[in-house]
Amino acid sequence: MEKEMVRLEQLNLIGEMAAGIAHEIRNPMTTVRGFLQVFQSKDSFMEFRDYLELMIKELDSANSIITEFLYLAKNKAVDVEKLNLNTIIETLLPLMQADAANSEKYTNLELTDIPDLYLNEKEMRQLILNLVRNGLEAMSPGGNLTIKTYLEGQEVVLGVQDQGTGIEPGSLEKLGTPFFTTKDQGTGLGLAVCYSIAARYNAVIKVDTSPSGTTFFVRFRRPQQAFL
Ligand code: ADP
Ligand code: MG
Repeated sequence: MEKEMVRLEQLNLIGEMAAGIAHEIRNPMTTVRGFLQVFQSKDSFMEFRDYLELMIKELDSANSIITEFLYLAKNKAVDVEKLNLNTIIETLLPLMQADAANSEKYTNLELTDIPDLYLNEKEMRQLILNLVRNGLEAMSPGGNLTIKTYLEGQEVVLGVQDQGTGIEPGSLEKLGTPFFTTKDQGTGLGLAVCYSIAARYNAVIKVDTSPSGTTFFVRFRRPQQAFL
């Protein structure tokens, strides 16, 4: 419990700082990106084409880190509406299937009837996609990722189950800590964003892991008093 508090305070602090500087950083980045694009279209820069492309790609990846930071910045859910998680998942399916197919993996849905919740659609998409991407990244080609929804008592549960090799005990306690990653190209922000979004809805994230796979559960309590 105490550990959870420290983690959330840490997230809030990082979030506030991020919100303050994000715009100041984005503006010059947009200018630089614009000029790079101009250079790209000029014949005289032909020999630097590959470098220019790489520079734009790097700028875009820096920009997406800022976006993730901004998700940490907010600590209250805003603009919530009555939505069904199943609908959000179904809308995301083509995107998730494209992600999976890129690495020769598969996605299945096991959705059951669940009541609507008060949610912000953008945040839910971000939460689901971050869990799905981690699941896909944890598996070898041929692996199956299953997304489930069900009602358990008063809780609406979202489950993202992969057939990866599991999470080491030493890593388990670090999950959700900003910048914790075991991947060469990882940002270590995906789960921090998930925990932060879940906390805004009073939802709890639980992990069940073994060497044959991992399931992340997001449990939404009902009724969601905060929004009623
Ligand atoms: P990133 O994906 O950029 O590494 P995340 O915050 O999304 O950052 O995840 C942090 C770390 O948690 C990952 O590097 C990985 O070690 C571990 N992890 C998260 N999800 C899974 C999963 N489904 N299976 C195995 N390990 C996972
Ligand atoms: Mg990730």
